[in-house]
Amino acid sequence: AAPIALISGMSRASRNGIIVKTGTTIEKLALAKSVAFDKTGTITNGQLSVDQVLPVSGIEPTWLLQLAASAEQQSSHILARSLVKASEVEALQSIETLKEVTGAGVIATLTSGQTVRVGQYQFVTTQTNQIIQEQTAVYVSIDGRYAGQITFMDHLRSEAPTTMEKLHQLGITNLMMLTGDQATTAAQIAKQVGIDEVHAGCLPVDKIYLIEKIPLAQRPVIMVGDGVNDAPSLASADVGIAMGAHGATAASESADVVILKDDLDRVSRAVLIARDTMRIAQ
Ligand code: ADP
Ligand code: MG
Repeated sequence: AAPIALISGMSRASRNGIIVKTGTTIEKLALAKSVAFDKTGTITNGQLSVDQVLPVSGIEPTWLLQLAASAEQQSSHILARSLVKASEVEALQSIETLKEVTGAGVIATLTSGQTVRVGQYQFVTTQTNQIIQEQTAVYVSIDGRYAGQITFMDHLRSEAPTTMEKLHQLGITNLMMLTGDQATTAAQIAKQVGIDEVHAGCLPVDKIYLIEKIPLAQRPVIMVGDGVNDAPSLASADVGIAMGAHGATAASESADVVILKDDLDRVSRAVLIARDTMRIAQ
């Protein structure tokens, strides 16, 4: 399409809180056949709160929370932020050494000398019987020993089912969820919003692989995400859309489109505006 038409489409999008960085993105958005969604913070609202602290016997719940929050104090992950919020911040231990594995968790050595791992089940432990399947959770180990889990309350974005419905109405029926969370939680959320294809337990590289595997006949593919862990898959999709209402993030930087309103339904609106733009441009 003529550059001028694309520019007017971009400006209409921006009046709707949808920042489209380049004109060619409008063309791809208009033709999109698949959408992949991240779960936590994208389909759910990301206003997580700690629900239950469940240590193994011999460990106090408040102690487990303090250690986990201490290890997580420098992480920007939304689970990390809500752990710190739930703890007594002034009683946190300092970190001596820290390693964060994006999309999996953190390994921190604290001033007490203890090494604490917090994150995805597979990242923290090889024990098989500790998963509480129904909820988003982090797992904790202390000096290599499994120490317990902390569960979170997370809520669907109220507009999420409508978004999926509108995409269906637009003829975009290939919808999927790519999440680092565990399978049962993922399946539950997917069912509530109306997504059939779910991939759980994904690391950032798995999300890239799943995006790249999508056949040509089902492209262009849009990926929608919010976190640091989504930055690589946003970049590998034909159109990466970042939910950017909470400020500039790694996701916003790697994305082709940034949604500035805290509203998932801007995804379907972006497609609508793009299609309108292309029609006018013909
Ligand atoms: P989603 O893909 O649904 O947005 P994430 O990839 O952000 O979810 O996180 C997936 C899982 O990885 C979380 O449920 C958590 O167990 C773990 N995780 C990732 N980073 C961290 C971290 N910094 N602290 C704790 N857990 C983490
Ligand atoms: Mg996320």
